[in-house]
Amino acid sequence: MVRNGWAEWGRRAAGAVVGSAVGDALGAPFEFGPEGAFSARFPEPGTGGEMCGGGGWDPGEATDDTQMAVLVGESLLERGGLDLPDVFARFQRWAASEPKDIGLQTEDVLTGGLPWDRAARAHFRVSLRAAGNGSLMRASTGAVRFARGGRTVTMDAARRIAALTHGDPAVWEGTAVFHELVRVALLGGDPLTALPDALASLPAEQRPRYATVLAPDWHPGLATEFNGAVWPCLGSAVWALRTTDSFEGALRAAIDLGGDTDTVAAVTGGLAGARYGLDAIPARWTEPLHVPLPGFGGRVLRAADLTDLAHRLAG
Ligand SMILES: [Mg+2]
Repeated sequence: MVRNGWAEWGRRAAGAVVGSAVGDALGAPFEFGPEGAFSARFPEPGTGGEMCGGGGWDPGEATDDTQMAVLVGESLLERGGLDLPDVFARFQRWAASEPKDIGLQTEDVLTGGLPWDRAARAHFRVSLRAAGNGSLMRASTGAVRFARGGRTVTMDAARRIAALTHGDPAVWEGTAVFHELVRVALLGGDPLTALPDALASLPAEQRPRYATVLAPDWHPGLATEFNGAVWPCLGSAVWALRTTDSFEGALRAAIDLGGDTDTVAAVTGGLAGARYGLDAIPARWTEPLHVPLPGFGGRVLRAADLTDLAHRLAG
């Protein structure tokens, strides 16, 4: 890859990881709030103060979405590739250290005492209700790491990481689509143009529901589940990207949907950050950003640490 191409790749990779964290921190105070709450509070884009904290979160504090993404990214670097038992062990160590937030299903799977290769499947067999967005939300780092391998490699890695905590194949496929869209964006393409090929790469039985929520004319008003489910969460992120023309615009649209705002915005921020690059993320959003890592010696990562993590994953 020519030097300029490499710089662009790194800029977009950092955009994906930092963008997802920014969305998470920006959306967290609005979780389970009503539609339009963000715009009601911050009517004029670009005026500042949006990293406001609230609901138990400090201004700029990232939640479980980003904490788990960092754990995946650091495992990939330290183990030199995908070591699923190691990722699971890091998740367990984190879950046992009282993170401020953790998904219900993720907590059950990580604290239930079953080994890494059985816990999620066992939980899914019992609950039959597992198609949450809890693996999609943490996918930015894996998406950056596996993009170089091409479509099949990155989609397969997404499925395997997702399966650590989620036994429902629908969740694996939504995470795989996210990986593929990030890959195309890192190459400089428009992720929206990658949707047909990404859909064609899903098992036939999983395709119809994703084709519905990823269609050009779908919008979040058509969702048939709460956006804590994987289909409307991914569909809403893609819709936010499609209907806006900037990082800030996409994030505002995502958080204004209400509901599971930290995760919808984390997914949107991952896609929009990969699409527009690190420079497109407002500095007033990256400056207060911080990611506590419960269970890992009181470490707190800042935007510069996330940028460094993304560059090492991309390189
Ligand atoms: Mg969260």
